[in-house]
Amino acid sequence: MSKKVLIVGAGIGGLATALRLVKRGYDVEILEKNSQAGGRLNQLKKDGFTFDTGPSFFSMSYEFKEIADDCNVALPFETIELDPLYTVNFSGDERTFVLYKNIEKLAEQFKDIEKDFEHKMRKYLQEGKRIFDGTVDIVVRRNFNSLLDYLLTLMKAPPRHLPKLFRNFWQQVSKYFSSDEIKQIISLVAFFLGRTPFNTPAVYTLLSYTEFQHDGYYNVKGGMYKIVEGFVDLLIKNNVKFHYNTEIVAHKETNGKLDYLIDNENNKWSSEIYLINSDAALFRGKVFKRKEFCDEKLDKMIWTMGPLTIYLGVDTKVENVSHHNYYLGKNFRDYADKIFTASSIEDVPYYYVNVLSHTNPECAPKGSESLFFVCPVADLRYKSDWSDKEIIVSKIIEDFSKRIKMDIKKHIISQTILTPIDWGNEYNLHRGSGLGLSHNLSQIGGFRPKNFDEKYKNVFYVGASTIPGTGLPMAIIGSKLVTERIENVKAL
Ligand SMILES: Cc1cc2nc3c(=O)[nH]c(=O)nc-3n(C[C@H](O)[C@H](O)[C@H](O)COP(=O)(O)OP(=O)(O)OC[C@H]3O[C@@H](n4cnc5c(N)ncnc54)[C@H](O)[C@@H]3O)c2cc1C
Repeated sequence: MSKKVLIVGAGIGGLATALRLVKRGYDVEILEKNSQAGGRLNQLKKDGFTFDTGPSFFSMSYEFKEIADDCNVALPFETIELDPLYTVNFSGDERTFVLYKNIEKLAEQFKDIEKDFEHKMRKYLQEGKRIFDGTVDIVVRRNFNSLLDYLLTLMKAPPRHLPKLFRNFWQQVSKYFSSDEIKQIISLVAFFLGRTPFNTPAVYTLLSYTEFQHDGYYNVKGGMYKIVEGFVDLLIKNNVKFHYNTEIVAHKETNGKLDYLIDNENNKWSSEIYLINSDAALFRGKVFKRKEFCDEKLDKMIWTMGPLTIYLGVDTKVENVSHHNYYLGKNFRDYADKIFTASSIEDVPYYYVNVLSHTNPECAPKGSESLFFVCPVADLRYKSDWSDKEIIVSKIIEDFSKRIKMDIKKHIISQTILTPIDWGNEYNLHRGSGLGLSHNLSQIGGFRPKNFDEKYKNVFYVGASTIPGTGLPMAIIGSKLVTERIENVKAL
């Protein structure tokens, strides 16, 4: 008889692992606290508009191809490559920089602000490629059985990259470029890890190589939620059962073994193997009551940004905006130093805008547009009161209107705002941290919460706060790593 696996959480990590397991003959059931699958990769349909609520693009598209091949299925969604990758506008500056993948075209954009940009960029990307080639297979796509195992593995990476663990992203970029604007633009990718270039290790400059040269960025035809629909469809066809509106809140153990999990209606759920896709640190604290992960300990860990997200449906076309757009201020360093610990937001914050309906016109009624704003803010440890959200949002909309020279406000026919409070409550994210545990030295690889449980031999974890880390491609790699672990479970 096939082994039963109970998965807690239908985020991308849970769905991807479910597919790998069911294709290997496991009997899989998924419990999800919300009424639909996807977790942070979700969708909002409102007033005739469709919005992707979280991820709006992904890199390393070949990880999705890998899982499709591994499971012997066709990729259940269609990718759209983004080129240009994104645009960047600085406050008070008439210019909008367009970030092309083609380095000559890119150099043309920057010829007035950085001498010899093309040569410098090629050298910078060459080093990014070296970091990628020297670390990804060795450190990222690998399980670690212990801290020692991790440290020994690190020693297999080329020694020239070691200093990049101790240098920050900004310092690495500064070795190649002198223009402050260029440095800010190139290091924006550190924000995708939910931190700033000043506290993200320089090894992550490999991300510049992944975005510009290796594979680029992708959107999905019909919107990002097609990824979730595609996976759910495949899982249902393979007899995976979903139980929505079912939140695991407690557990019962006997003689050091997990007997069963308990949901919000006091139902008991037992299985041979459990896979937790709920945040790997928070679940250990809240449900398994581990002291090392109690609220006090969690608060001492380093968490990624809290997201303030805005979803606007406007009854007009917005022409001066690309698929992805960053709107920055004039005080990058000062902003980056304060943003994740600020208890109030006085000035216009930096923000990102995605126009889903540019690439996917079906996501908005004819002649209209669906706009998605992400503004990185402090998590709830630092800013717990969001009664000022309307004021902050109207400042952002006013600023955006000025920059694109079009009064958006009078065209808004649908508006939804999600603060870190909403993100935290909806998906069980510690203090509303949008991307989970951060990727600083003490929280990556062997230092990150493990993908196997310390106490219960039949409990495993997948998703943003375990290895390898946050973001959609990492969740897919994580699903492969945890599947290897589950396959190695001996008779219990
Ligand atoms: C605003 C925002 C923008 C982002 N943009 C990008 C992007 O552009 N590209 C990119 O690659 N990544 C992006 N990310 C990151 C990406 O969304 C996440 O890394 C990824 O979706 C995390 O997937 P996961 O499977 O780890 O967890 P989740 O998506 O959080 O899934 C976990 C699931 O478990 C459920 N759950 C939690 N606790 C329980 C419980 N006790 N019982 C039952 N169910 C439970 C939750 O409801 C959820 O459905 C973004 C994130 C945010 C917040």
